[in-house]
Amino acid sequence: MPETAQNLAAIRSAIARAERDFGREPGAVQLVAVSKTVPADGILPALQAGQRLFGENYVQESAAKWPALRERFPDAELHLIGPLQSNKAREAVSLFDVIHSLDRPSLAKELAKEIDRTGRAPRLLVQVNTGDEPQKGGVSPAEADAFLSACRDSYGLPIAGLMCIPPSEDLPSPHFGLLGQIARRNGLELLSMGMSGDFEPAIQLGATHVRIGTAIFGARAPKADETRGAIRSP
Ligand SMILES: *Cc1c(COP(=O)(O)O)cnc(C)c1O
Repeated sequence: MPETAQNLAAIRSAIARAERDFGREPGAVQLVAVSKTVPADGILPALQAGQRLFGENYVQESAAKWPALRERFPDAELHLIGPLQSNKAREAVSLFDVIHSLDRPSLAKELAKEIDRTGRAPRLLVQVNTGDEPQKGGVSPAEADAFLSACRDSYGLPIAGLMCIPPSEDLPSPHFGLLGQIARRNGLELLSMGMSGDFEPAIQLGATHVRIGTAIFGARAPKADETRGAIRSP
């Protein structure tokens, strides 16, 4: 078995074990394999091993890699998990099945426009900046309820759930707990939380989607925006 397939099998069984240990329904947690910076021929073994949900951070990179992969695997589902610039909304709506990083009115407006225009409607998650970190995307927890109402009422966008990336220096569980609270009081079902280093506590606290990259594909060469923490343009 190639290493990627082995890693994938190990992660799948760790997810299944966490579901059992924490009293979650079997299959309640979906694995989003994060393939950013991984070339197409590195993604192939994961597809061949049956993985179908993939997460990418960059619209341009995804547009270059995925159309050809999807021709071979039409049931692959593509998730945008990185920050999205409003001027890339059109390309994002045409490319992605799920967008995890909706976090501001200007982007909601552009997405609504593209969804109207094309009839294509990716599922949308609102990113919450649970640590209120200035350099990170996401709405502040204090503004989440108002933003969720605005998405529904002002932009006509159905929101399926929430996403967060806890500050790297914090224990993640309080952030996962907070995200769960905001989802519950807003009647939202999906919780995208937990990465290679912290997916087990995320599953304990209700994650429906875990986003796992390095534990499947190995270490990535650091990109500038990961070392300084994803600065987004307005
Ligand atoms: C890169 C990335 C991941 C995957 O992180 P790993 O630590 O490699 O598992 C998950 N979520 C987001 C938003 C990311 O940018």
